[in-house]
Amino acid sequence: MKLNNNFDNIPESYLFANIGKKVNEYKKANPNADIIRLGIGDVTLPLCEAVVTEMSKAVREMGTPEGFRGYGPETNCYSYDFLTDALKKYYAKKNISLEDHEIFVSDGAKSDLGSIMDLLDTDNIILLPDPVYPAYLDVNVIAGHKVIFSNANYDNGFVPLPDPSVKADVIYICSPNNPTGAVYGFDALKAWVDYALAQKALIIFDAAYEAFVGDSSLPTSIYQVEGAKKCAVEICSLSKTAGFTGTRCGYTIVPSDLVFDGTSLNKRWQRRQTTKYNGTSYIIQRGAAAVFSDAGFRQTREQIAYYKNNAAVIGAALDELGIWYCGGKNSPYIWLKCPNGMKSWEFFDLLLEKAQVVGTPGAGFGKNGEGYFRLTAFGNAERTKEAVERLKKILK
Ligand code: PLP
Repeated sequence: MKLNNNFDNIPESYLFANIGKKVNEYKKANPNADIIRLGIGDVTLPLCEAVVTEMSKAVREMGTPEGFRGYGPETNCYSYDFLTDALKKYYAKKNISLEDHEIFVSDGAKSDLGSIMDLLDTDNIILLPDPVYPAYLDVNVIAGHKVIFSNANYDNGFVPLPDPSVKADVIYICSPNNPTGAVYGFDALKAWVDYALAQKALIIFDAAYEAFVGDSSLPTSIYQVEGAKKCAVEICSLSKTAGFTGTRCGYTIVPSDLVFDGTSLNKRWQRRQTTKYNGTSYIIQRGAAAVFSDAGFRQTREQIAYYKNNAAVIGAALDELGIWYCGGKNSPYIWLKCPNGMKSWEFFDLLLEKAQVVGTPGAGFGKNGEGYFRLTAFGNAERTKEAVERLKKILK
């Protein structure tokens, strides 16, 4: 038996372990310290009423002979019509028309970000942004792919554009971005679509934070860009849209127009999913569909507004302090330049020791993250305000 020793090549992520260790040590030395965490990437508000009502109904239904359901509909890769219809309507509002068989309901974005590796030959060049959401890098290293990076930095506002001299087969784009909060505009996204079409490359577009985009001049789906259906898969999630991090539901769009070497990627993905996946539960799909009902949409957007208000509070403080940042306006993440040329971990220590505020050092997301720091808006509003007051006190 031979192991996949590519696992040995995954960069060891000390990031969250290190943060945990430092916070624990600080707590041990200062047992009464009132620590505020602005580093979490998880949501904190409970599921909205519309979702809870529909899921509860679905649980009851499953307990009756006439309402019981086993495996989901295999003809549609286990996605129920009521959810595919809701998603089709949601995309129609973005002027995107989708067919049932192009929508694959999943148990969240992360699973599909990894599973899609099944469709790719080992001999592919993968282009990732740096800084990067660590899972993109890890799944490709495990698959034995060659990974190259495009530099996201201060000069390009953390929105890197393609370099036509660079050859890539698979391109990852995350917009709004984790960790930087930066959002691609139409022109920049079009540049990537054109580049992918010219290179006959595949774009994997991660739209996990699309619901945070409030500015109507910004795209929320790559399919709003002409030509994207011929080169892009879109992976999305209800984790941050509707607080489903623990409930687990997402969806992946694989258009029929995606054809490589005469092979339909949609058909391949169908084959992969029916072989290795048995669907998202009926109860969860009912809850997911409720997110797109009038009440569910209103309630989940209220929650997003709550988080975005936290982001605005953090942003206003950074403006006042004259600290450069991006994100926070159409994203739950605020990516700031550490003041006075401090390195990411230096700034982490300063915030922990002097303000008892915990954030995430940018250096943990790639070399271009050094000197930057991520704060998130997923906390409690009062605690976020308190954290911001502490920041102002120590940084003024
Ligand atoms: N993609 C990005 C960019 C994320 O930040 C996250 C979670 O933080 C995910 C995907 C994972 O989403 P899910 O909870 O749907 O697996």
